[in-house]
Amino acid sequence: MARPVRHPTHHRVVIVGGGFGGLSCARSLDGKPVDVLLLDQRNYHLFTPLLYQVATSLLNPSDIAYPLRSIFRRSRNVRFQLARVVGLDLDRRTVRARTGEEIAYDSLVLATGSENDYFSNAELAQHTLGMKTLAEAMALRNHVLSCLELAARADSVQERREWLTFVIAGGGPTGVEYTGALAELLKLVLGRDFPELEPGMARIVLVEGQDRLLGAFHRRLGDYALRILCDWGIEVRLSTLVQKATRERVVLSDGEEIAARTIVWSAGVRPNDPLGETDLKRSRSRRLRVEERLRLREHPEVFVIGDAASVIEGGGELPMLSPPAMQAGRYVARAIMDRARGATGHRKPFRFVDKGTMATIGRHAAVADFHGVKLRGTIGWLAWLLVHIYYLIGFRNRAVVLASWGWNYLRLDRPIRLILRGGADEVAAALEPDSPAESR
Ligand SMILES: Cc1cc2nc3c(=O)[nH]c(=O)nc-3n(C[C@H](O)[C@H](O)[C@H](O)COP(=O)(O)OP(=O)(O)OC[C@H]3O[C@@H](n4cnc5c(N)ncnc54)[C@H](O)[C@@H]3O)c2cc1C
Repeated sequence: MARPVRHPTHHRVVIVGGGFGGLSCARSLDGKPVDVLLLDQRNYHLFTPLLYQVATSLLNPSDIAYPLRSIFRRSRNVRFQLARVVGLDLDRRTVRARTGEEIAYDSLVLATGSENDYFSNAELAQHTLGMKTLAEAMALRNHVLSCLELAARADSVQERREWLTFVIAGGGPTGVEYTGALAELLKLVLGRDFPELEPGMARIVLVEGQDRLLGAFHRRLGDYALRILCDWGIEVRLSTLVQKATRERVVLSDGEEIAARTIVWSAGVRPNDPLGETDLKRSRSRRLRVEERLRLREHPEVFVIGDAASVIEGGGELPMLSPPAMQAGRYVARAIMDRARGATGHRKPFRFVDKGTMATIGRHAAVADFHGVKLRGTIGWLAWLLVHIYYLIGFRNRAVVLASWGWNYLRLDRPIRLILRGGADEVAAALEPDSPAESR
């Protein structure tokens, strides 16, 4: 078995976060003469673009997650440790784990991603369901399937309607993709698995603050998504915000009240910041400000990448998407090697190469925007399938996801319609005292 080796440089690199940014950095440093320690509060890398398919009974959690230890099983210089980082001492160059352990570094990469943002509205945080983690996606799946069971045994039509009304806040890619997949799931089960529920009884309402869907895409593609969703019977409220939520209703900014037991939150994210209130500078979106080489201005040994970093290009912040995180991870790996070698020249500033954006609405309906080339419909959908299979990690995951998509395509089936309730595990709890089963 390959053993970690100490390299002559003894340059210690600590990477916090094994998501898109942290993982691409660690992979680029694999085999290089530096000692890399990758820390994450979860023991797996999560492929977030397919989370909504776990939430809608098409994929299993293991299909879109990959154990970080397995990725570096053969590496001689990259090690993984399960740890939640809760603090940083910039002067002593150490990070502090929740367990109290202090870990020293020569170069540090912060790649801690983002979490749901409820804009300080405690009601929204309490009464809506997020979709940022596997635990949340599973909770959402359990919740929706449980709503169907409760609707089937409801005494009154009014109560039945409440269980069958689903409100989704946020018409970005995540909200649009989830809405389309939920519509497919309901079409599949109502009147079939649930003969007591008529297909027309379900109501899906998508609420978006802007005057269009898919704000990051060209307007034509947003209009296309709107037309498809409306054709499928989904109610879309544009220029409207979800303002208030309780267990039984949601209030919109135009005063409309909707009786609903399910409110899905995909309307805001903010950086996941393990450093808390330090003196470090943050942007309006609370991301850590970095200079053009992705370092903290006063601390060139600390790099911040991905959703956690505020990188200004072309007058605006780079979006919270996986391509900027992955490209930054590779760039930072090269910059760290410069430091380890003691190279004194300055590396060119980081520049993001935008290769395009894409989102799927459902079968044969997706949008993709590649530098002015706009694809939609079946072509967009095929492009979306190919790109996502390409970026999934692990041969098994690719094979299983492809097989699941094939099955769904041929059989119109979302087979993982299981309501699973997890139990607490003492050993897992001991690893991370007083932490939730999986944090956001
Ligand atoms: C549902 C959903 C769908 C998405 N779809 C797309 C899409 O289709 N295309 C696209 O480009 N982007 C998509 N995104 C956005 C994309 O996931 C992020 O932009 C990307 O993951 C950012 O990479 P990152 O490395 O900054 O963070 P992440 O990939 O989120 O990784 C952060 C890692 O840090 C770990 N971590 C956090 N805090 C700590 C701590 N204190 N201690 C230790 N570890 C910690 C986390 O466990 C996590 O593994 C989607 C996001 C979501 C939630």
